[in-house]
Amino acid sequence: MGWIYWNHELETKPWAEVEAWQAERIAGFVSRLPARSDFYRSHLGAVAVGAAGIRSLDALDALPFTAKDQLRRAQSQSETGRPFGANQAARLVDIVQAVSSSGTTGDPMFYALTRRDLDVWSDGIANVFFTCGVRPEDVVAHLVGLPMVAGGLPYADGFRRIGATLAWFGGFPTERILTALPRLQVSAILATTSFGVYLSDHCRKLIGCAPSELGVRKFLSGGEPGLGQPEIRGKISAAWGTSHIRECMGIGDVMSALWGECEEGSGMHFNAQRSVAVELIDPATGARIPWRDGAEGEAVYTTFEREATPALRYRSADHVIVMSTSCACGRTSPKIRCIGRTDDMLIYKAMNVFPSAIRDIVLSKFSDVVEPYMRIWKDRVDQVRFDEPIPLEIELRPGIDSSLLSKIGQDIEVEVRNRLQVRIRTVLVEPGTIPRSAYKTALVHVRRNQTDEM
Ligand SMILES: [Zn+2]
Repeated sequence: MGWIYWNHELETKPWAEVEAWQAERIAGFVSRLPARSDFYRSHLGAVAVGAAGIRSLDALDALPFTAKDQLRRAQSQSETGRPFGANQAARLVDIVQAVSSSGTTGDPMFYALTRRDLDVWSDGIANVFFTCGVRPEDVVAHLVGLPMVAGGLPYADGFRRIGATLAWFGGFPTERILTALPRLQVSAILATTSFGVYLSDHCRKLIGCAPSELGVRKFLSGGEPGLGQPEIRGKISAAWGTSHIRECMGIGDVMSALWGECEEGSGMHFNAQRSVAVELIDPATGARIPWRDGAEGEAVYTTFEREATPALRYRSADHVIVMSTSCACGRTSPKIRCIGRTDDMLIYKAMNVFPSAIRDIVLSKFSDVVEPYMRIWKDRVDQVRFDEPIPLEIELRPGIDSSLLSKIGQDIEVEVRNRLQVRIRTVLVEPGTIPRSAYKTALVHVRRNQTDEM
């Protein structure tokens, strides 16, 4: 043993030195970008010329952000031999894989990896999972069913890079997966948070025993905010009989795992420092925010090693809060939790609110009477503003006395109003009413055609 870090040097170097090390590489990346990418040649214009002088991440302030819509437009400018459009920065013969965004916000986007990109990704993703406690002796059940999404094949590569035994169950029926876990001596599971909660609830019904009897000792989850919530974490922990619950996060546009939680269990470290730089910005003004405890903002990424579909100062729309800038584990990278996507934000009268903040309050105070399943209803896909209280449907726990319903509903409305200064209107529904999703569970739904918005 004694192997504590995946990349000892970069994970334990003072963060300012890591950023300086990255800045040198970004200088080369930016100066070569216009020659490699038609999109960045026009996006950067004359700015790229001075990029060779980048000595610190502060110098990035002079460079433009990249928005998802810009990459979307660049991708639509495809031609024969260039399926990834104007930001395809490598020859098709050198590209070995296409990765799809999950398509939760708009049409799916596709990203490309060269063989070298694939190597960089596998190493970075392995770094994240190693931080989350996966080791070569683990048998890992990978429960994401879609190979092409960021959490599909790339995660499988990350587990194999560590040297763990990959058991990719993908789209097998849930019952078959659960039955196979003890047979393969699976010690670690990776699932979306929604699916983790679903398994916790349904294991006994499906195979007649509690998840804690299956022998799984490590539970990794990500793909959506939620595991940062003590109630959801506690539910999974109790069901599986383990305190080794770790959250991870990434985005397909950049790298499918960027952040991972260490044994302290108090936020996700940035673990992609070898190939990706991260900045925190104010989403309204674009100003950079220093990494300090309690700071909040949007995560912005630069993929300075990327060959195929590079991204400079890419705005993730992920709204994060800095939990800490130092950690007992010895890693020097900032630790965060993701609060939500800046484009999920709702406005009640003049107050901004994340749907996940409403859910978190409900779960933190009322988990003795309601289940962690709820839905906010919008009238239209593009509705952001609410002049009337925001409708929130919440599922009751089984066995709650119906005479208590109106009091529970009112208590929740008052608590949310007091804590967030927004009004909601609760509708309590019977246990089992809200559909469970095996992949990601949307919190916001659109009423008109009953289809999910996210
Ligand atoms: Zn740590």
